[in-house]
Amino acid sequence: MADTKTAMVVSAHSADFVWRAGGAIALYAERGWDITVVCLSFGERGESAKLWRQPGMTMEQVKENRRKEAISAAAILGVKTTLFFDVGDYPMRISDEILYKLAGLFRKIRPEFILTHPLKDPYNFDHPLAAHATQEARIIAQAHGHEPQIPVLGAPPVYLFEPHQPEQCEFKPEVLLDITPVWGKKYAAFKEMAAQEHLWQYYERVALQRGNQASRNSNRTVKYGEAYQRIFPQVTEEFSLAS
Ligand SMILES: [Zn+2]
Repeated sequence: MADTKTAMVVSAHSADFVWRAGGAIALYAERGWDITVVCLSFGERGESAKLWRQPGMTMEQVKENRRKEAISAAAILGVKTTLFFDVGDYPMRISDEILYKLAGLFRKIRPEFILTHPLKDPYNFDHPLAAHATQEARIIAQAHGHEPQIPVLGAPPVYLFEPHQPEQCEFKPEVLLDITPVWGKKYAAFKEMAAQEHLWQYYERVALQRGNQASRNSNRTVKYGEAYQRIFPQVTEEFSLAS
């Protein structure tokens, strides 16, 4: 369908999008949006500790496990397309080729909004790198001189999803999204992340906290929430009111 709305999520590691943006993804997917998730790496070195404790484990097996988990989680959330760039992690490095590949995707998919990591994280260098690559690719996609035969990207808003320790990452919640209607899907997606079982309860607590704060900042009762920070100002004809 030509009028289907699209959004893109750029995740440094193959599970990040589930913990941090699974609610937003499920919410928009239920509304008929076509969501594309890009996993820059599988998190095979840095975020797969449980898999590495199994005897005889190899890098290829870890990647394959992580790929399967991410695909199952994405299916539960209603993601239309999940892409794996396999650029490696801990350390992650982004080549010009990857930047152009991302820029090409932005122009092809023309997302209405983009979700990615915050720009700072002293615990993790891959997450801010993914955020910078996303930003840079978005700007390349807006440049008229880059592949001038393809129409340039507009200005899709970028929402930064919540990091593991927000205070250390200078993360300030500016948007609280009510994900209560899709919480069941988000939690079911958590359970596909068997390599990171220790995070299931942690991220349920995060969602409950943000839900409580969402209730306090609105006239509605919110049980589960997700927090986002904006990079660019919201452009509007009217102020958003308490809902
Ligand atoms: Zn990660």
